[in-house]
Amino acid sequence: MKDFTYTGLPAKVIFGSGTVGRLTGEVDELGIGRALVLTTPQQVDQGNELVERLGGKSAGLFANAAMHTPVSVTNDAIQAFENLDADGIVSIGGGSTIGLGKAIALRTDAPQIVLPTTYAGSEMTTIIGQTEDGEKTTQKTMKVLPETVIYDIDYTMSLPPVMSVTSGINAIAHAVEALYAENSNPILNLMAEQGITALMRALPVITDEPENRGARSDAAYGAWLCAVCLATGGVALHHKLCHVLGGSFDLPHAETHTIVLPHALAYNAPAVEDAMASLRRATQSNTPAGSFYDLAKNGGAQVALKELGMAEQGIDQAVDITLRNPYWNPRPLEEEGIRNIIRAAWAGDRPGY
Ligand code: NAD
Repeated sequence: MKDFTYTGLPAKVIFGSGTVGRLTGEVDELGIGRALVLTTPQQVDQGNELVERLGGKSAGLFANAAMHTPVSVTNDAIQAFENLDADGIVSIGGGSTIGLGKAIALRTDAPQIVLPTTYAGSEMTTIIGQTEDGEKTTQKTMKVLPETVIYDIDYTMSLPPVMSVTSGINAIAHAVEALYAENSNPILNLMAEQGITALMRALPVITDEPENRGARSDAAYGAWLCAVCLATGGVALHHKLCHVLGGSFDLPHAETHTIVLPHALAYNAPAVEDAMASLRRATQSNTPAGSFYDLAKNGGAQVALKELGMAEQGIDQAVDITLRNPYWNPRPLEEEGIRNIIRAAWAGDRPGY
C-alpha cells in the first residue's frame, strides 16, 4: 500500500427518516439559545416548519438565501442575525442555503446545524465560496464547518426528479475526483466507491418513482459519503472546468457538473487505472464515463453545455482560462485535449470510456 495521510473532520452526523425530531435536542447540546433559521424563498414552508418546531429556541426565519452566496445577501442576513439577537444557525436547504449559513459563521463564529435537502454536499466541507461584484472567491476554513448535520430523507422527497439526478451526479463527481486525487487514500476510496454505488442504484429509481423512500435513503447516504470525499479529498480537472464554466459563463452548478463529468473522466481514464477499476465496480459497467452520461440522459438532464445557453465561441475562451493557472491533474493538461473535452461537453457527445 502506498503511504497516505487521512484527515477526519469533526462533525456530528444524524441520518434517517424523521430525524428532524432530534433538532431541538441538538440545539440545546450546542448551547444555542435563539437559532436563526435559513432557507431560500422556494423552501419558505420548510423554514417556517422548523421555526414552529423550535418554538422559543427560534430567533426567526431568514428566507433569502441565493445561489453563489452573494455578499449583499449575507450582509442582510447578518443584520437580521443581530437584530433578532440570534446566537446560532439552523440551515435547511441545498448548497445555496448552507453557503449562507457558512458565511454567517465565518463572520460571527455562530454554531451551525444543517438539514441538507439536495445531494450537493456543502454540509460536510470547510469550503465557502462567496460572490461580490460578479467575482466568486473560495476559501477553506474550519470556521465554516457545520457542527451538526441532520440528514432527514423526508425533506429530500420534494426534490424534483431531474434536480435529484443532477444534484446526485454533482455528488458523484466529488467521489470520482477523490479516487484519483493527488492525496487519495484508502479510507476515502472506500467511501467514494460506496457513495457512487449507492447513488447509481438510487437515481434511476428516483427518476421513475420520486417518492420511493428506499431510493431516497440510498441517495442521501451516497451523497453524504461523496460529501466527505469533497471535504478532505482532492479535486482535479473536472472541478477546475466546472469552476471556470460556472464563473465565466454563469452556468448553473449541478447541471454543469452533470455535463462535464463524463468528459473530464474520459480524459483522465488512461492515467488512473485503479480509480477506473473502482468506478467499473460502482457503475457495474466497463465504461463508467458512458454510464454517468446515460444516467443523466435517462434521468431527463441536459447533456450539452449548448443546451445551458453557452455559445460555441465560449469554447476557446474556456480553454484559455482553464490553462492559465496550472494545477495538479493525474494526466498532464494538453491544450488540444482540453479543447476536445470542452467541445464534446458543449456538443453533448457520449464518451467512449
Ligand atoms: P441550491 O441550494 O441552489 O438549490 C437549488 C434550488 O432547489 C433552490 O431553489 C432550493 O430552494 C431548491 N431546493 C433544494 N432542496 C429542495 C427540495 N428538497 N425540494 C424542493 N426544492 C428544493 O442547489 P445546490 O446544487 O444544492 O447548491 C448549489 C450551490 O452550492 C452552488 O453555489 C455551489 O457552489 C454550492 N456548493 C458548495 C459546496 C461547498 O463545499 N462549499 C459544495 C457543493 C455546492
